[in-house]
Amino acid sequence: MDKREKILEIIRRLQKRYPNVKTALNFTSPLDLLIATILSAQTTDVNVNKVTEKLFRKYKTASDYANAAEGELESDIRSINYYKNKAKYIKNLAKELIDRFNGEVPKRIDELITLPGVGRKTANIVLWNAYGINEGIAVDTHVKRISKLLGLTENTDPEKIERDLMEITPREYWGEISHLLIMLGREICKAKNPQHSKCPLNDICPGSKL
Ligand code: SF4
Repeated sequence: MDKREKILEIIRRLQKRYPNVKTALNFTSPLDLLIATILSAQTTDVNVNKVTEKLFRKYKTASDYANAAEGELESDIRSINYYKNKAKYIKNLAKELIDRFNGEVPKRIDELITLPGVGRKTANIVLWNAYGINEGIAVDTHVKRISKLLGLTENTDPEKIERDLMEITPREYWGEISHLLIMLGREICKAKNPQHSKCPLNDICPGSKL
């Protein structure tokens, strides 16, 4: 099986196990998802969802974030780690959205990654989950680890891993593959104790023998 055949087999098996996969972050608008994804750095989606339940009722537009009083946004997200930095990023990002994109979240990755606090991972998550656009593959810690174990990449740099995965994965699956691997990483292929015997990819994964 070459890598292109293998990734299709991986997708087929994981789709069966995780049908209708999507981000675990709660959101109703592209702006909500952009903010939630920024908040989710170095913390869990569960923690973020707890905070955003109230936050998204209070802040509905980029102007709401940009015009928040000094310290107010910090206080509204203070149960999240690095809340001071994250509040600063979000306020600056909101100002840029207003100045450059009419307050809307852009639909192009080259525009999204010019915003403060937004890298390719965040941009890819927002584009696929909020707009259904496949521009790239979000490489988080699970995708990075599992791609290597599955023998799909030798690289360790997320951008290089993304390029390797994009080369072998049909574009229509770019958004989905990332979330399928994240689900597998959370449930079975855990960093500390991967459960090879329970894994649907066991027979095609070189990592199962490590
Ligand atoms: S077989 Fe093991 S190493 Fe490979 S993906 Fe499954 S849990 Fe991870």
